Amino acid sequence: MIITDNLTKQYGDIVVLDQLNLNIKAGEIYCLLGANGAGKTTTINLLLGFLKPTKGCAFINGLNVAENSKKTKRFLAYIPENLMLYPSLTAVENLDYFSGIGGRNLKKVQLEEFLHEAGLQKSAFHQRISNFSKGMRQKVGIAIALAKNAKSLLLDEPTSGLDPKASNEFGQLLEKLRGQGVAILMATHDLFRAKEVATHIGIMKNGRLRQEFVANDLSLSELERAYLDTMDYKELVS
Ligand code: ATP
Repeated sequence: MIITDNLTKQYGDIVVLDQLNLNIKAGEIYCLLGANGAGKTTTINLLLGFLKPTKGCAFINGLNVAENSKKTKRFLAYIPENLMLYPSLTAVENLDYFSGIGGRNLKKVQLEEFLHEAGLQKSAFHQRISNFSKGMRQKVGIAIALAKNAKSLLLDEPTSGLDPKASNEFGQLLEKLRGQGVAILMATHDLFRAKEVATHIGIMKNGRLRQEFVANDLSLSELERAYLDTMDYKELVS
């Protein structure tokens, strides 16, 4: 569903993403860890078609993103760290607007059903987004992904700033989507949540994927050790 093949991004002489190879299948959650500037957001922007690769390719649903960026967006949902919604519109109105852009005109009852499925409390359906917490906004984002019937979901720092309960609820939602066969790529600094939800974990440093794990193969403390060792590792400069 989500593939990168030697995906590389360079600005001038500086390589910010270096030959990244990922293969995220339906029903998998891949958490990409790495310090600030590791190249996580660059990866997501290349998968979204917002950036053009210097070398290599990104594929969504078997289609090369650089050549089919409009088409691939149809299969994709994206939840950035701070989801842009219309503050003066209600949750239902936002969902109606964004699913309309995606070409789906849904009835009020269907919109409410998606918000319910995304875990938003009923009392918030017809309230303005401006009063929502980050956790509630994220749920509207998930409802947008559900309404779009997205096969792939890209998330950039979705749990930063969420309290532990909201973060746990968000993790459960991702589990649910995974169960429905969605392929999920999540860039995060949250080792705990990554260990909780991921099927696979990658650790990046300076634009390169340094380590990859099947999440069940290591404990949280082993993951933390692996992360710290990767960050401490000094590259030999020749
Ligand atoms: P964070 O955890 O802070 O979000 P990240 O892993 O998402 O970090 P990126 O945002 O992908 O990292 O940035 C990777 C590198 O690319 C950084 O060193 C950044 O300064 C650099 N970079 C990003 N955009 C540009 C640009 N337009 N021109 C030059 N360098 C850029």
